[in-house]
Amino acid sequence: MTNHQLSCEQVNALLNFYVEEKLSTKLSGYIEEHLKNCPECMAKYLQMKNMLNKFIDIQNEEIENPYATKQYEDFKLNLSAYIDNELNDFDNIKIKKIAISNPLARQDLENIYTFKKMILSSYEKTKNDFKNDFSKNVLCHLQHRQDINEKKLDPFFKLTAAFFVMITCIVAGIIRILYF
Ligand SMILES: [Zn+2]
Repeated sequence: MTNHQLSCEQVNALLNFYVEEKLSTKLSGYIEEHLKNCPECMAKYLQMKNMLNKFIDIQNEEIENPYATKQYEDFKLNLSAYIDNELNDFDNIKIKKIAISNPLARQDLENIYTFKKMILSSYEKTKNDFKNDFSKNVLCHLQHRQDINEKKLDPFFKLTAAFFVMITCIVAGIIRILYF
């Protein structure tokens, strides 16, 4: 017995497989042995077992739901086509009727519309952000260029003016020499 004793770490690593009864009889036996002697691991085991049972209950509830009918299955199959307006008039009305009479279907429809709205609004937001960023960038760019131009214009303008004055003086001097 002693050479098959598992440590708490080993038991922890195997516990969820044990709870789901996926271990060999031999390995399950070792774990059972450990659980009998270790209250900590036993507590973990009971908690896990409890969770699994609750999960199974929920699954069974879904199966037993009186609205989970063949009609509802049809509805689920056609839901995305309905949302995207891809159904013919007959199927369209059929889906609407199911949505009115079946709370599960109505909930699904509401969920998918909410989801679509969420997606759409986040898309719009991204688009707007991009637009804002874009115009901001353009403005920023223009502003920046203007700044550069203003700074560059000043010395350039002075130099050009001086050059023109010089040229005018030279031309006036030549004219004076030639014609007077
Ligand atoms: Zn233990």
